[in-house]
Parts: sequence; structure tokens; C-alpha cells
Amino acid sequence: MYPRNNKQNDPFEKQLMSELFPTRRIQVLLPLPLSGVLDYLMPEEMMLEIGDFVTVPLSGREMQGVVWSLNAPENDIPIEKLKYVVRKAELPPVPDTLIQFVKWVAQYTLSPLGSVLKMALSVPRKFDKPKKKIFYRLSEDLPDKMTPARQKIVDAAIEDMPLAVKTWKEIAGVSDGVVRGMIKVEMLVPVEVSGEETFINPDIELERALLSEEQKQAAEHIITQQRTNSFRTILLEGVTGSGKTEVYFEAIAECLKEESAQVLVLVPEISLTTQWLDRFKERFASEPVIWHSEMTPAQRRRAWWATIRGEARVIVGARSALFLPLQKLKLVIVDEEHSTTFKQDEGVMYHGRDMAVVRAMQSDCTIVLASATPSLETMINAQNEKYDWLYLGERHGPAELPAMSTVDLRHYKLRTGSTISGPLYDALKENLENGEQSLLYLNRRGYAPLTLCGSCGHRIECPHCSAWLVEHQKFKKLECHHCGFNRRLPEQCPNCEALDSLIPCGPGVERVAEEIELLFPEARLAIMSSDEISSPPALKKMVEKIENHEVDFIIGTQIITKGYHFPMLTLVGVIDADLGMSGADPRAAERAWQQLEQVAGRAGREKHAGRVLFQTYQPDHPVLKALVSGDKDLFLEAEAEARENQKLPPYGKLASIILSGADRSKVLSFSKELLKKSPQYDNVTILGPVPAPLSYLRGNYRYRFLIKADIEVNLQKTVRDWLSQMKTGRGIRVQIDIDPYSFY
Ligand code: ADP
Ligand code: ZN
Repeated sequence: MYPRNNKQNDPFEKQLMSELFPTRRIQVLLPLPLSGVLDYLMPEEMMLEIGDFVTVPLSGREMQGVVWSLNAPENDIPIEKLKYVVRKAELPPVPDTLIQFVKWVAQYTLSPLGSVLKMALSVPRKFDKPKKKIFYRLSEDLPDKMTPARQKIVDAAIEDMPLAVKTWKEIAGVSDGVVRGMIKVEMLVPVEVSGEETFINPDIELERALLSEEQKQAAEHIITQQRTNSFRTILLEGVTGSGKTEVYFEAIAECLKEESAQVLVLVPEISLTTQWLDRFKERFASEPVIWHSEMTPAQRRRAWWATIRGEARVIVGARSALFLPLQKLKLVIVDEEHSTTFKQDEGVMYHGRDMAVVRAMQSDCTIVLASATPSLETMINAQNEKYDWLYLGERHGPAELPAMSTVDLRHYKLRTGSTISGPLYDALKENLENGEQSLLYLNRRGYAPLTLCGSCGHRIECPHCSAWLVEHQKFKKLECHHCGFNRRLPEQCPNCEALDSLIPCGPGVERVAEEIELLFPEARLAIMSSDEISSPPALKKMVEKIENHEVDFIIGTQIITKGYHFPMLTLVGVIDADLGMSGADPRAAERAWQQLEQVAGRAGREKHAGRVLFQTYQPDHPVLKALVSGDKDLFLEAEAEARENQKLPPYGKLASIILSGADRSKVLSFSKELLKKSPQYDNVTILGPVPAPLSYLRGNYRYRFLIKADIEVNLQKTVRDWLSQMKTGRGIRVQIDIDPYSFY
């Protein structure tokens, strides 16, 4: 029997225990925002190893953590003060590669180890013994003839694998009644299993797409590299619709030939990838294991268990999937690697793509970064041959890249309140008459980004943020897109109380939809924004509606840019191509180019040719020139040169420190103190403190420092040393962002 927790405070008992059990001081990491590990005693017969999940006492309660080291160095806490590990969970230990990864991420992002561990343990009830469950397998003696519905079950069966009723329904596409009926007549036999239902393995023997020469070469390169079991990063660049997915599916299939090999696929927004999942199902006759933050606790638990037991073969997820306890990671794919959604902007601020490269390195495996618009960082790594570089230059089959042109709004003036120019109107009309679909892109949710009073000029702002409230007609509300605050659309000005004086300024997708309804009353339209599409099923429905051609015009925000393939979509109109083209963000132009190229890439993906119109006041902007000419190299070279001159990433290092708090003067004086202590090196520049562009957020004042350093500087150490000179006062929050992507 192990020493029990409730006796641990009894000195006599303790004495006895330490005589009975020669003690060993070990270190346990708990998922708490602590920078270090805590010391505990290991009862001898517990036989712990590094990575074991254990329960330990902490401040009068029990907590679950991970054994971090079996030899804690002697320190000033006497052994009598230490408590015993209470119990060890019946789970495989955390794989060493995950331990190494947690350490790396903590060190790189300057986050407490415990906070990073927490991300790896974000699974409900993982320590509970799995409950016994009843599943059903196909009986060995079945009648020769049966109903078509029952035959579907027989056809769907995977050898004698026991499955839940729900799963039978899903994979066979039959009703509950059919499954129940077969259970009744004992064609399906009950089996008691312990634990979570396993996942059906991908079928790698299925007939695959015939790859083009270009695609075949790319796939072969990945496969050859993957088989070396060594770390390598491969950039898979290919124009939109060139078959990148097809190529890496091929590599996944090959990789899975190795017994228990696991593949991790990271996608920017897993809840938005319904078409991808359908393709996977078609290709591998099974669903991948999915991982993202919106899953139910039961789904998370099942996926996590399957991963730690090494049963999950292909895991597709958001960036947080990097923290899954993968046992035998053999291939990593990062799809749409340029996407900024890979960057986590809260808590542990890490970049999913960059950390995926680290994860692959630590697992000695190949990683593929796929994109039609690779990030500058990745391009430069490929140019410097740090990464292998594969390129697919043609769309698959007869499809051609769309023709792109600008509509100069200085020449084709917009009527007041209108967002559609003459040339765009003509193109939309023509498309509608031809029975083809059109997409209007505007990356702005709601009706209008600003509401102002025509009588006194008052602009309606968020009371908690330095931001305007966005008008949403759909909800009859004004809403803050930063903190979620909202209020009913007022009838009079909150400032001067004038009636009916409020004017919505600037367009959002709702307003474009309103105009389209007026211009084309007979057309069927759909808005695609996060307000309209709030759940994966809603998205699935919308995607199906578009695929079935029940929609003529789609009006969408950036959620429409995410890799969709709609055969009848042949025209893309960008309402405001100038939006987001410049700003405080050094990557603004690059990002604008990526978004526009991606949205343009939705046009003409099959036999009908596509075209794209960009409405702009600056048709000579390098971003638009690159798009229209189809020659992005010049643009990217210029971007790279500008970054090199300013020593910005990837030619230099950048970190941001945001200090925030409810008391402005306190935050400001803390910032000034910090400035006095700032590091004085030639190769480090400190900019700030200045009020952050969003200087007031959720009731907190925000000041920002930017730290720019030469590439050889150990930025983490510099920042750590600097900040360690000051104790954070109460009411002041310090957020460190190494390599920031967000500049508000
Ligand atoms: P990308 O990921 O580069 O945008 P996809 O892999 O989505 O391109 O391919 C675009 C379309 O072309 C998809 O509908 C895909 O199924 C099809 N496709 C690509 N390559 C092939 C192939 N070799 N055989 C059949 N269809 C293909
Ligand atoms: Zn707000």
C-alpha cells in the first residue's frame, strides 16, 4: 500500500513512512502557470518513470501532473517537508518527444513550463479508468440473403471490429432501426470492450487518383525523404487548384504502410474544412482523428486516448494538435502554411507552423509546408536551401488560372452608398445570365464598421475598448469586434439625442448583400461570414448549397478564402482591394497579397474559365501589380529587401511586450521604469513604450515595447534578463510575444 495522502501531515506517520519506504526525491511538473517543477517523494514500489502521469497533493487538494525528473537535486526544502506521490495513472507515459517539445516551446516563448504542459493535458477525465462499454461485431454465420439495408452493414464491416451502434449507422448509412434489428436477430453480436471506441484505420489500398507527371514527382520526393526517417522540411508550393492535397494524400498513404506510423496534418481552421474531410473520407474510406478546441469533452477524450495508445494513424487538427502525445510521428503536413491563424495570440504565444517544424525535428521526421502563397519566411528558407522546394505550376486537368484585372475606382466612380462599380456590375450580370456563380469578397463582418451622428458628428465607440462599434443589421445591434460588447441599435444619437440622425459609414458584407438584392432581385444569395455560419453543420449546409448551385452570389469574408472548390464559381469581385494593404504590421502587404491570391484562386477551378476583378484606388500598388501580372517574384523580392533593410524577420528578430492594466498612470509609470532598465546593446533596439494601436482593450490600458534585435542575438535571454530586473506590480499584466504577428 502506498502512503496515503491524508496521513501525510502527521509527523509520526511521516517518520514511520520514511523508515519503511526509503525515499527518493523526484520532480513533478504540474499544469499550472509555474515556471518550475515541484519536488515530491516517490514511494519505492511505485516504480515511476519519466513521463508518468501521477496524482500529487498540493495545498490540501490533489492534482495531476507528469514526472519530470527522477533525480531532483538537493535544495533547501528538507526532505521531511516533502509529500509523497499519491498514485500513478494507468496510462502510457508521455512520450519523450512531447516532453522535449514542451520544454522547447516554454523556452522559446518565455512561458512557464506548467502553462505549456497544460496545453498537452487539456483532456477531460484522462486519468479515469475507461468505462466498460458494449459494442457490436458482425456475427460469423450470416444468412446468404438479406435486405439491402442489412447488406449495407455487412459491406461496411471492417473484419470483426466491434463498433458502437452510432458508428454502424454512420459508416453503413442506415437508420438506427436497421442496426437494432440486426442486434435483435443476432447478426450483430455484443462485445464488452474497455475504453474508448477505436478509430477505423485509413484504407491505403484504395484506388488513388492518377497523378500528373508534376504531381508524381512531388509526391515521390516527399515519400523518398519520409522513408529516410530523418528531419527535413519541404515546401510544397503550387498554384491554387494544382493538386497539393492530392500530392500529400499520396505521401500519407505511403507513410501509413509502416506499422503504427502516425501522421499529423495541421490546418488553419479545422471547423472550416468540411470539403477537406469529405475528400479524406473518399480517399481513405475512414475519418481521420480530429482535434480542435470546439470538440466535446467526449470527443477530445476519445481522440487523446487513441493518440497516446498509438492507434490514431492520421490526426488532423488545429495548432493545438501539436501537443498530442503522438507515439510514432512519421510525417507532418502543415496545410496553408502562410495562414496567420497558426499563431496563437493569447496565453502561450506560439506559431503553430514554426513549432510544427520543431516537433518534426525532435521526432526525426519529414514536414511538408503546403501553400499557394507561402510566407516570406518559408520562401527565404527554401531559397537558401534550408528547405527542399517543390513547385506545381499548373492547375489540374483543363482548369486554367483565372484572368485578373483591376477596376480603377478613381475612374469608375462609385455612386454614394454603393460598393459595386460599373465594370463589376456588368460582369456580375453576365455571369448570372450564363448561369454561373460569383463571389464578392469583403473582409468585414456586419453592415457598417462605423456609425456616426449626422447631426453632432459623434462616433459610437465601445465603452471598454478604443474601437468603433460595428453595426450588425442581422442582429439589430452594434457590436465590438474586440471584446464582444454589444448594444441595441439606438434610435437617437447617444450624444446629442437627435432622432434618426445616425449614419452607417463604410460597407460590411451585410451591406453589400443589401445592394446586390436591389441590383439583382431575382438572384439567390448567401452571406458567408462567422456571423452567418456559426457551427460546422451550418457550414456544411452552406457548402452543399453552393455545390448544388442553389446560390448565384456568395458574399464572404476571409472565411471563404480557405481552400474551397466550387466548380461553377467563375467570377470573383473584390469589393475593396485596398483594405489591409498597409499599416503598422510589417507583414501587411504580404498578407494582403496572400488573401487576395487565395480568394482569386476560388475562380474557375474546373472547365469554366474564371476571372477576378479588384476594385481599387491604387491599381499601381505592388500587391495588385503582382496579382494582375501573375508575377509574384518581383513583389516578394521587394518585400524581402525591405525587411532586410529594416532587419525585420526573418532577417532580424522581433519581440513585443504589452503592458496592460486598468490604472493608466500605473501602467505608464511601470513602462517608464522598465525603459530605464532596458538593455543597452548595439545590436538590440528598444522601441517604446508607446500606447498600443488598440490602446484600450477590455477595460485595460495598453502600452507596448517592440524589441528589434540582430539575428545572432539570443532574444529570449535578452528579454528575460531585462524583465527579471523588475517585479510586476499588482494590477499590471506583462505579455511577451516572441515574433509577433499581431500589432494592435
Ligand atoms: P490545391 O490543394 O493545390 O488547391 P487540390 O488538391 O484541391 O489543389 O486539387 C484541385 C482539384 O483538382 C480537386 O478537386 C482535386 O480533386 C482535383 N485533382 C487534383 N489532382 C488530381 C488528380 N491527379 N486526379 C484527379 N483529380 C485531381
Ligand atoms: Zn470592446
